[in-house]
Amino acid sequence: MPTDPYTWIEQSLATIQRANWYRSPQTLEGRPGPVVRIDRRELINFASNDYLGLAGDDRLIQAAVDATQEFGTGSTGARLLSGHRPPHRQLELAISALKQTEDALVFSSGYLANLGAIAALAGKRDLILSDQYNHSSLKNGAQLSGAAIVEYRHCDILDLKTQLQQHRQHHRRCLILTDTVFSMDGDICQLPALLDLAEEFSCMLLVDEAHATGVFGATGAGCVEHFGCTGRSLIQMGTLSKALGSLGGYVAGKAPVIDFLRNRAPSWVYTTGLSPADTAAALAAVGIVKIEPQRRAKLWQNVADLKQQLLDSGIIPISQESPIVCLPVPDAGAVLAVAQQLKASGIFAAAVRPPTVPVSRIRITVMATHEPAHIQQLVGALRHLNWVRTCAKPLSVGWVSASVTHHTPH
Ligand SMILES: *Cc1c(COP(=O)(O)O)cnc(C)c1O
Repeated sequence: MPTDPYTWIEQSLATIQRANWYRSPQTLEGRPGPVVRIDRRELINFASNDYLGLAGDDRLIQAAVDATQEFGTGSTGARLLSGHRPPHRQLELAISALKQTEDALVFSSGYLANLGAIAALAGKRDLILSDQYNHSSLKNGAQLSGAAIVEYRHCDILDLKTQLQQHRQHHRRCLILTDTVFSMDGDICQLPALLDLAEEFSCMLLVDEAHATGVFGATGAGCVEHFGCTGRSLIQMGTLSKALGSLGGYVAGKAPVIDFLRNRAPSWVYTTGLSPADTAAALAAVGIVKIEPQRRAKLWQNVADLKQQLLDSGIIPISQESPIVCLPVPDAGAVLAVAQQLKASGIFAAAVRPPTVPVSRIRITVMATHEPAHIQQLVGALRHLNWVRTCAKPLSVGWVSASVTHHTPH
């Protein structure tokens, strides 16, 4: 009798469950915002990437409705065939204006933007240097490209330089990949030093601004603007699904780079254009980022308030540089229990576990639309957890210096 070729899947699921790594989605009712409804209960939402609170904004909704009325629900084809619609180009021009780049290209998601751009920019004879904590989409884009991949230690410029000295000369072209804001740690890359190394070793540099666009920089252009690196030689990508409250991704840079991607990025050429509704909503969001800097100011005020209150309570996050505030918890079982306790206190925060990260953590994201009372309630709930008193402090210190590898699922 031949054996059932699918039995391994159930065994694998059982292993995932035993390790407390098992995950399943939770249903959120109604519009996104600082307060959401889950299981018929109202919870304060600290688990969203909607940093500016735009995903539930009436203006984005109206833009999506209007575009749907005018252009229909689907783009009906790839952009190079029948799927290219006026809002696509308007959005690309708006993004390149925000980023102050020559051009931009909109993809159907940020994940697809990374897969397509990296696969187009590097090939078998090339080298990719990638921060060990980079997002899954950067790592998988590197795999897809077929290039030789070397991971350097997280945010370690010296290690990157050592790797470049060792490997650069053996390859035709080199591409350095990094998140600017690291999605599961909340710290930020040292962009000026990375740019200097890229120049010294003649490398392309692609930065992932997924958590920075709309959040960092005087005009909300991202970490590139925050570091005063606008106009320097690099390629930026990002998503329309976080601070911009919609869906989709983009790459922004010099005109020839974008023109090349339009011809060579497989995840752009061979997929259907972004829907008119998503495109128009993102376009409205870019407009709001431009005319409402007070949203960004409110977000950073909330971040400062939260950090001060955590500090006053002796709770030390992994990093203090962005609206992503992560609190380490010893293991996957404990972090689930903490998330459950927070939920019982009316707080919705993400329990992030392996294999997404090496060390389990509660991931808190701050929004511009949080009220002071929301933040007070969060800190109050954290203070009441035994876990905070017993392990948050020593662990956060020990963990930062430990060099552990991310096991991002491929
Ligand atoms: C969310 C995210 C992406 C993917 O963007 P989507 O539009 O959600 O596919 C890419 N990179 C980073 C760092 C992210 O956090």
